[in-house]
Amino acid sequence: MKIILATKNKGKIKDFEKLTDKMDIEVLSILDNIDFPDVVEDGKTFEENSAKKALEIAKYTGIITVSDDSGLCVDALNGEPGIYSARYSGEDGNDEKNIEKLLKNLSDVEKNDRKAHFVSVVSIAFPDGTVKSFRGETQGEILFEKEGNNGFGYDPVFYSYDLEKSFGVATIEEKKSVSHRGRAFEKLKKEVLEKL
Ligand code: IMP
Repeated sequence: MKIILATKNKGKIKDFEKLTDKMDIEVLSILDNIDFPDVVEDGKTFEENSAKKALEIAKYTGIITVSDDSGLCVDALNGEPGIYSARYSGEDGNDEKNIEKLLKNLSDVEKNDRKAHFVSVVSIAFPDGTVKSFRGETQGEILFEKEGNNGFGYDPVFYSYDLEKSFGVATIEEKKSVSHRGRAFEKLKKEVLEKL
């Protein structure tokens, strides 16, 4: 069976291919030059954005589609940057500038109040309009400065409670075993993919 993975992020494509490698599933993505429209992420929640992306592409292509919407939620910032994590420092921003803004906004916040979690909502949509979403989370706190350079996004400043170290020094395998995305993908696998 063919499934489109609606992301331009090569890391996410690799993760998903690994998750489905022993299953009868062929993963299609931009790496296979699949043509699908850019979907405007104008929802107010991870669930809305993720489901919208999967649904529009499944309807357009006629092929089952999986998407993921993710971000970092910081307690002391009332859940920010949340769904705006990728664009926290503006449309022209990047990971470096996003981290800089985050650390600046938390400069007066003590260690005990720096709790945060990553969220990933993975959706699967069928061409008939059915869609199901699964949420994964991972808990930790925001460091005062970067620790390591592994991963992407906010990884260097996220201290994982599960791993007892920052995602910036964790290996890919370590991060995957506790990550929000890994957890959401596992739910999708157990509750939908294995039953297809
Ligand atoms: P998107 O789901 O591709 O839109 O990504 C949202 C943004 O959230 C990313 O650009 C990162 O800034 C942040 N983010 C999501 N997942 C992770 C992660 O696993 N590590 C670090 N940052 C992440």
